[in-house]
Amino acid sequence: EVAAVSPSGDSSSGIENLVIIGSGPAGYTAAIYAARANLKPVVFEGYQVGGVPGGQLMTTTEVENFPGFPEGITGPDLMDRMRRQAERWGAELFQEDVEFVVVRTNPFIIRSSEREVKCHSLIIATGANAKRVRLPREDEFWSRGISACAICDGASPLFKGQVLAVVGGGDTATEEALYLTKYARHVHLLVRKNHLRASKAMQDRVFNNPNITVHFNTEAMDVVSNSKGQMSGVLTKRVDTGEESVLDVKGLFYGIGHTPNSQLLEGQIELDSSGYILVKEGTAKTSVEGVFAAGDVQDHEWRQAITAAGSGCVAALSVERYLVSNN
Ligand code: FAD
Repeated sequence: EVAAVSPSGDSSSGIENLVIIGSGPAGYTAAIYAARANLKPVVFEGYQVGGVPGGQLMTTTEVENFPGFPEGITGPDLMDRMRRQAERWGAELFQEDVEFVVVRTNPFIIRSSEREVKCHSLIIATGANAKRVRLPREDEFWSRGISACAICDGASPLFKGQVLAVVGGGDTATEEALYLTKYARHVHLLVRKNHLRASKAMQDRVFNNPNITVHFNTEAMDVVSNSKGQMSGVLTKRVDTGEESVLDVKGLFYGIGHTPNSQLLEGQIELDSSGYILVKEGTAKTSVEGVFAAGDVQDHEWRQAITAAGSGCVAALSVERYLVSNN
């Protein structure tokens, strides 16, 4: 049973209407909508990605596919604008990681190292992180030759018309490789095992594509650069023979999956086998009433800034309805 709460947020109980965890496109969009609905949302922005709020886009340069920016916009600039828009409407922002959440009882309890907040509703927008291969020079070339998103970066001048490599053997890697053939001159798929784990349909599409070469038993070892410091190749190693060689490529895409940041909720709400938060189809509702999820933490398929923002909007509007119907 939810205690009486005023939709204007001035409950005298010390219990907040809404806490939002996360400051990517999903979290800030939810904050904008909830603040405009006068819910006075409290946002824990976190600083897990690069020690700053703003989520995954803080680690990239140009974003070319977010509507409204025909000339493109840098990831940090886009996130700064979203943040200021949330602040302008009165969202209360804390640059703190949430360390502990209880949603078994209502009001819910949200705790960071600095404070504990009780709330009637919660939006989880903690995102996901692309799994890294952990190559020695990975940090040096991240977003400068290494990418984990073909849809985001495939058409960029850095990669267009070039020979590229993709690491992985599952559905993510085969999808990335197939997508990249739209723009790349050729794509090499580096598969550590001696077979692909992707679905039969995806395997057929890969094997039938003359612009993809599959290298089985092959591991990426490091990035090779030219005298200008640009990526010029990938050092590979055959896992069966130990033989090393350099593949001449201008870009390396990781297709080894993502890790959703759902650990806070483990054991309290339903997750799928990979840790993504399960929402009822077409909604932001989780298995716990009053707890909503938005963005990459509940989306293993699309993982785009605009889809994250859209689901943040749905989550905030759902919260508004939920609080009114429980008032
Ligand atoms: P995220 O952006 O992942 O944000 C999650 C937030 O939750 C972070 O702020 C994090 O600090 C916070 N958080 C996590 N745990 C906690 C906690 N315990 N307490 C408090 N806060 C917490 N998409 C595009 O559409 N176009 C692009 O061009 C594009 N380029 C990309 C380039 C790169 C290098 C990467 C990595 C991704 C790119 N994407 C792009 C994908 C896009 O960034 C994501 O789909 C989007 O950011 C997901 O938004 P989100 O709000 O769900 O989560």
